[in-house]
Amino acid sequence: MSEHFIPLSVPNFSGNEKQYVNDAVISEWVSTGGSKVTDFEEKIAEYTHMPRAVACNSGTSGLHLALLAAGVGAGDEVLAPTLTFIAAVNPIRYVGAQPVFIGCGESLCLCPDLAREWLADHTEMRGGKCTNKRTGAHVKALMVVHVFGNMAAMPALVQLCGEYGLTLIEDATEALGTTYTEGPYKGRMAGTIGDIGVYSFNGNKIITTGAGGMVVSNHADWAAHAKHLSTQAKADELQFLHDEIGYNYRMTNLQAALGLAQLEQLEGFIAHKHKMYGFYRERLDGKNGFRILPFRAGVRSNQWFYSLYLEDARHERDAVIAALREKKIQTRPVWALIHEQADYGTCERFGTQLAEDFRAKIVNLPCSTNLTEEDAQRVVDALLAL
Ligand SMILES: *Cc1c(COP(=O)(O)O)cnc(C)c1O
Repeated sequence: MSEHFIPLSVPNFSGNEKQYVNDAVISEWVSTGGSKVTDFEEKIAEYTHMPRAVACNSGTSGLHLALLAAGVGAGDEVLAPTLTFIAAVNPIRYVGAQPVFIGCGESLCLCPDLAREWLADHTEMRGGKCTNKRTGAHVKALMVVHVFGNMAAMPALVQLCGEYGLTLIEDATEALGTTYTEGPYKGRMAGTIGDIGVYSFNGNKIITTGAGGMVVSNHADWAAHAKHLSTQAKADELQFLHDEIGYNYRMTNLQAALGLAQLEQLEGFIAHKHKMYGFYRERLDGKNGFRILPFRAGVRSNQWFYSLYLEDARHERDAVIAALREKKIQTRPVWALIHEQADYGTCERFGTQLAEDFRAKIVNLPCSTNLTEEDAQRVVDALLAL
């Protein structure tokens, strides 16, 4: 019997997706107008316990809007992770600012201790602004990514940003549903703790709208501004008056229809992610030179992506990936580090050693919300045979 292909991460449309999308088509509201967009915004606001959510057409556009709403602009500098997908960093450049790359901690997320060390050594207060002593630029914000759905160290980051007057922007594109279960932020979700946060509904995220994003903020005026910018900054509907440079970033009604159906299933998807994470962990952690990296304690993570860590040097990342591909199992390495990418090679970076280790030794395992135990067992068997 020829074995079927096991993908890394595919969407799961087993709910009301077809019905809601059909409703949108029948209503002829397929574009950025339409009640499903505001419905979806309200439901995400409710789910994340935020006063408001602003829907947009991708996580990347959401991050761009977040930086604009935060007033990050030309000549500013933003502390950012190097271990991330590049869409967390490119929007810093869209607004004319520069990233300063900071390494990660064991959580894979930007390390507050490294950020503190860099800030202490490389900045001073000038005119009340945290200023890079070398470049003279205003270090205005810190962009943290909740990598693979793991919660970043938010209490330490909030403290640090408070001390240095930095705006804290959360790229929670991978972390919808990740929630503190203890500590000072008990009950608070990734994306809702800093000044402004962004979710993504790209096809590989925990829920999808095909492409889409959502901005939430603890500053009501920032959320309102993000919405305004996403809708071409139209100040007068009838007269087509625009009061600043806006963008065509609004989510469509078709996307929102998909999102509403997906959101109904989110908690079920998270439960499945937990079950399959446990399945891999039990069979692979500490076995055959492998570790399954943990998620932060004191947090109900959405456990979006699972990280196999190749602890034993006899396992080489690309060889492992190739051996699994031979068996029709799709895996992938963690992203190439951003400070090594074409347009970021000259940027300042600090403490990137652990990120380099993770880059060399992590392989992400199949984690779809419809992954079966039979398929996961095939992945386990293939790995234990190496
Ligand atoms: C997916 C993702 C984004 C971008 O989201 P899109 O919806 O694909 O534009 C940004 N940052 C990280 C870390 C992501 O994983």
